[in-house]
Amino acid sequence: MFFEEADQYLHEHSAEDLCMLAIDIDHFKLYNQFYGRTSGDQYLKYISGCLQEYAKEYGGVTGYAGADGFYYLCPDDLVLFNDMTVKIKKELRARDLEIGFAPKLGVYRIEDDTKPIMDICDCALSALSDIQGEYSKIISWYDPTKERSEDDFMMLREVEFGIRNNEFTFYLQPKCNMLTGKVVGSEALVRWFKPDGRLVNPGTFIPVLERNGLVFKLDRVVWEEVCKWQRYCIDMEYPLLPISVNVSRADIFSMDVAAYLQNLIQKYDIPIDCIELEITESAYVSESGGLGAEINRFKEMGFKVLMDDFGSGYSSLNSLKELDIDILKIDMRFLKMDFSTKEKGVSILESIVNMAASLEMPVVVEGVETDEQVRFLKEMGCKYAQGYYYYKPMDKSDYELLLDEPDRLDMDGIRLSEVDQVHMLDLTEEKLFTDEMINNILGAVAFYEVTDGVVRLLRLNEQYYQMMGMSDIMTDPEYAIHLRKSIHEEDRDAFYHLFEKADEQPLKGSTADIRYIRPDGELQWIRIRIFPLKKHHNAKLYYGSLEDITEIYSQKGQ
Ligand code: C2E
Ligand code: MG
Ligand code: MG
Repeated sequence: MFFEEADQYLHEHSAEDLCMLAIDIDHFKLYNQFYGRTSGDQYLKYISGCLQEYAKEYGGVTGYAGADGFYYLCPDDLVLFNDMTVKIKKELRARDLEIGFAPKLGVYRIEDDTKPIMDICDCALSALSDIQGEYSKIISWYDPTKERSEDDFMMLREVEFGIRNNEFTFYLQPKCNMLTGKVVGSEALVRWFKPDGRLVNPGTFIPVLERNGLVFKLDRVVWEEVCKWQRYCIDMEYPLLPISVNVSRADIFSMDVAAYLQNLIQKYDIPIDCIELEITESAYVSESGGLGAEINRFKEMGFKVLMDDFGSGYSSLNSLKELDIDILKIDMRFLKMDFSTKEKGVSILESIVNMAASLEMPVVVEGVETDEQVRFLKEMGCKYAQGYYYYKPMDKSDYELLLDEPDRLDMDGIRLSEVDQVHMLDLTEEKLFTDEMINNILGAVAFYEVTDGVVRLLRLNEQYYQMMGMSDIMTDPEYAIHLRKSIHEEDRDAFYHLFEKADEQPLKGSTADIRYIRPDGELQWIRIRIFPLKKHHNAKLYYGSLEDITEIYSQKGQ
């Protein structure tokens, strides 16, 4: 339907003045998981409505492309594109959706009206694919000089050849204890030395390999080189510091990573704790549930697992609870930090650090570059960092010089610092716990106040409303009564007991599965985790993280 209409429109107008837009929402699958299908459908409707309005105002033809995609054959008008991007940004802000769920625009300027409409759409899609998942860009123009798949193909061939030709090696970037500046371990980062002597950083080839499912070929080389290197360090009687290697999501789906690593550990006869695994956050939100199981296998074998680049996009602390992760890596560069105003990025970072502490999970902050950042992170109670401020990635011979100076090394590794209660107490303060954070990072959240055994809800976030199928009307001052009523009779004691239990183990919090009665009368299983925050006169404040687990129970047949 769209294609026919568009084709006709194209022939009635001059093709040079037209563009094809392909529109797609970033991480839409995830959006549905987070906010529910209904909200996802509303989002799609909203976009479709906007496009229709644009078509009315500017002319052109719009159409649905299936899933979360749309097309818009529109005039080649910069005012229109500017208007769209401004509107998208505004809308995202209004919905507290700044991180990760933006509609992206791929634009193809139609130069040749003999090109079939399908090919025209493909070009727009190809422009779109350039920025998908890229956090900071909303719009991308098709570049006719670039033959993409051909490019990929050349790159893959070069990499294959490079692997055979031993052109790949790794650099090591130390991770430091911020209090002492001593090195507790390092990360292996792949480097490509081309035959012409050029050094290539991974940003240019890792994404191509990942896109084509071939990154495992290179990663196998890096893992083996790192194991071989640890063997060498043992033989040289250097202090043995752990080295982390990167494991791509694509690796896990392409090969049996655990078995391969096990084999390397045996082959080089090295202790398993001298190799650690960094897995990027995006790998955790794949369609497949197999990842959690794979992580468990790594852990059973004795590997430490780090979650890489936390905060880079669609972060979910719930995934932290569910996956058996040892260490959290937060990349400062992803949080738009403005130290002078202590803006959003700062408070997000601080809140993540606090929450990680409450989950008893050590944190390494990556991308630390300046004095100011170091001071700030230390104040916040961060203990470990990796970044240019301490060391840039270095080659093996420089790393050896470092190993030769035991005074610069800290053999205790990365441990949980004693949790500073003061930080926990600050959690409810507005400046630390911003709405952006509550809405984007934590999932459904509620703050409770308990006075003389009466539980009152102080603050909820949007996910809470959506999960519980509630409307705002229910936030009246008598919510305590509604709250009681909305919990299944048999589960009320368990619910109230949660708060006492949380007092007994404040760091771990208390967890229970509770049945809620939705406004429409349906029963819903909710897993609640409660943490005590602080005393306030004779009242006590608690933080609750909630998750809909109805599906788990219905699978169990309950
Ligand atoms: P990553 O795993 O998050 O690695 C950290 C990246 O940040 C490295 O870039 C490192 O050089 C850079 N970095 C560290 N400190 C600073 C700093 O203070 N300032 C700035 N501006 N940058 C800093 P690199 O080596 O270019 O690697 C980029 C990404 O490529 C890595 O991000 C990782 O996702 C991927 N990668 C690197 N090596 C491998 C590998 O062997 N296998 C796989 N699958 N991916 C790899
Ligand atoms: Mg990494
Ligand atoms: Mg990282």
